[in-house]
Amino acid sequence: MSTEKAEALVLRVIDFSETSAVVTLFSREFGKIAGLAKGARRPKGPFESALDLLSRVRLVFLRKSSDALDLLTEAKLEKRFRTASRDLSHLYGAYYVAELLNELTHDFDPHPELFDLAVDTLEKLGSASISSGIVILRFELTALRMLGHLPSTRECVECGKSIAGERRTAFGLSSGGVLCEACRPGKRHVVSLSKEAVTWIETLVEPGEAWITKPLERRQAGELRGAVSQYMSHVLGHKPRMLEYIGLPSASALA
Ligand SMILES: [Zn+2]
Repeated sequence: MSTEKAEALVLRVIDFSETSAVVTLFSREFGKIAGLAKGARRPKGPFESALDLLSRVRLVFLRKSSDALDLLTEAKLEKRFRTASRDLSHLYGAYYVAELLNELTHDFDPHPELFDLAVDTLEKLGSASISSGIVILRFELTALRMLGHLPSTRECVECGKSIAGERRTAFGLSSGGVLCEACRPGKRHVVSLSKEAVTWIETLVEPGEAWITKPLERRQAGELRGAVSQYMSHVLGHKPRMLEYIGLPSASALA
């Protein structure tokens, strides 16, 4: 058993007894961790009410060597999630981020860049000046890229043929990317994407923040939301619980 320290986001809190809770966190150093927090529900305990959903904390825990649950010993609050927006979609978006981090990652499989992306996404959802829909879409696609699930957008995933320049492209959910005309027949779970939507997917996963100011038409917003929802459900093997609360991405100035 060793004592570890980590910076972490609280993904899930399940009451375990009158004073304790089982808490799932996504840490920068270790990836996902689940542990028992004794006294978590006591206001003056070692956690000082830091273990709220989506809080960012400095965590100390005892890592068990077997399959036993790790023991959380201390958590100091760094930042509680708050949103300045009165629009509930920002809060639901943050819950969706927690759900995806929990479902897309494994225990003790660290992805520090994904942790940083999640922190940045929660910051943006905390602001009322940017549409939650586009922030979520960028989180989903970038998280998929970081975890090796990003769909191929330029070359056919089956044969490698370049398909840049086509007005509409077939996107195979099971294949994990775009399909050329020769490879498409017979494939199941295929959606059709416009050239603009494909370009948007590429913009959203680029480093930098060009996506914040790029104008997005309503038609493409619906198309992108639909395709990413289907692809995410496909990757997870089921529809994420919070997905139906996620709004359409819209131009950046809208909340
Ligand atoms: Zn092909």
